[in-house]
Amino acid sequence: MSRNLHLADIDPRLTRRGFLKGCVMAAAALGLSDEMVPHLVEAASSPQRPPVVWLHFQECTGCTEALLRASHPDIGRLILNLISLDYHETVMAAAGKQAEDVLDETIKKYDGKFICVVEGGIPTKDGGVYCKIGGRTAISILKDVAPRSAAIIAIGTCATFGGIQAASPNPTGAVGVRDIIHGKPIINISGCPPNPISFLGTVLNFLTFKRLPATDQLGRPLFAYGRKIHDQCERRAHFDEGRYAEHFGDDGHLEGYCLYKVGCKGPETFSNCPAVRFNDVEVWPVSAGHGCVGCTEPRFWDTMTPFYERLPNVKIPAGKGAVIGAESAGKKILGVTAAAIGIHAAVGIGKKLAKAKAAQKPEDIKKER
Ligand code: SF4
Ligand code: SF4
Repeated sequence: MSRNLHLADIDPRLTRRGFLKGCVMAAAALGLSDEMVPHLVEAASSPQRPPVVWLHFQECTGCTEALLRASHPDIGRLILNLISLDYHETVMAAAGKQAEDVLDETIKKYDGKFICVVEGGIPTKDGGVYCKIGGRTAISILKDVAPRSAAIIAIGTCATFGGIQAASPNPTGAVGVRDIIHGKPIINISGCPPNPISFLGTVLNFLTFKRLPATDQLGRPLFAYGRKIHDQCERRAHFDEGRYAEHFGDDGHLEGYCLYKVGCKGPETFSNCPAVRFNDVEVWPVSAGHGCVGCTEPRFWDTMTPFYERLPNVKIPAGKGAVIGAESAGKKILGVTAAAIGIHAAVGIGKKLAKAKAAQKPEDIKKER
C-alpha cells in the first residue's frame, strides 16, 4: 500500500551514519542516557514498521514539509524508515476514489493497530462544511478513522489547538483533535511547524517502550515541551543583566542582546527549540535574531500578538522575584541592577555592572570594550 506514495524526490537512502545520528539525537531529546541508544537503534531497525494513516485537514502542509523536506534530510528519511506511511494525501500518487479506497483498506487491514497522525485543524461549525475531502467533512473522517487507531499524534498547532483557523473570531469553529476525540491516547506535537526531532522522539519512544511519552496538561510530550524557551535561551544572560535590543537593527540587536523588548515570547512559551534547534545547522529563531512568537502555545495567534510588542507581564529577576509591568520593565531593571551592584561588587565586577546602564545605549558599551 505504501508503494502508492509519491516519494520519488526524497532520496530513500539512509546512511548508517545518518541513521545512528538520528537515533542519538532522539535519545538526547528524550532525555535518555547513552545506554539507551542501542535499544532505540534496535527498535528503529525492526522490520515491523507501524502502519501510519496521516490525515490532512485545515492547514498549510507546513508540518509535512518541515518533517520530510527541510535540510534535515536524514531525519526525514529516518522517519520514513521507521513507519509504514500507508496513507498521506500530500505525497500519495493516488488521487480521488483510488486514494479514498486506500484509506478504507488501510483502516480495515490494520484495525486498532495503526498510528493516526492528524495535521490541520478541524472545523466544527455548520456541520463541518468548511473542510471536505472526497465529499466527507473533516470531522466525519476523523470520527471514523481516529477511534480505530492504536494511538493518535496531532502534529502542529492546527491539529493540537486549532491553529490560525481558530484565531478570533474563529469563523469555521476550528478545534484541535483532543476537543473531538476521547478515549484514545493522543499526543500533541504543537508548533508552527513543530521541530522534526519532537516527532521523531515521540515515534521512537512509541516503538521502543510501546507507549507514548509522558505529557503535560496540554498533551504535549514533556521531553520536548517541559521547559520554557526562556530558561534555555543563549540570550538569557543579557535578559538577566538588562541588555536588550530596543529595535531591530540597532546596536543592541547587532550585539546579540535579549529580544524581549522587540516582542520575544520566550518567557511564556514551552518548547525545546533552543536545545534541539532546526535545520541541521544549529540555528533557531532567536539565534537568528528574531524573537520567539510562541507558536507552540494554544491560541498563540490571539494571545501572543502583537508579535513585535513585549509581553505584558514578565518576571524580571529582582531579588525576591518581583513581577514588573512590561511598560516599565526596561527602566526598572536598571533600578534592579543598582540593587544587584552590591552583590556583584562583592565579587569584583561592580564596575562593569554600573556600566550596564548602557543597556539603554548599546553603542556606549561598545566604546567601553
Ligand atoms: S526574552 Fe527571548 S531572547 Fe530574551 S532571554 Fe528570553 S527567550 Fe531569549
Ligand atoms: S522559537 Fe518559538 S516561535 Fe519559533 S519555533 Fe520555537 S516555539 Fe515556535
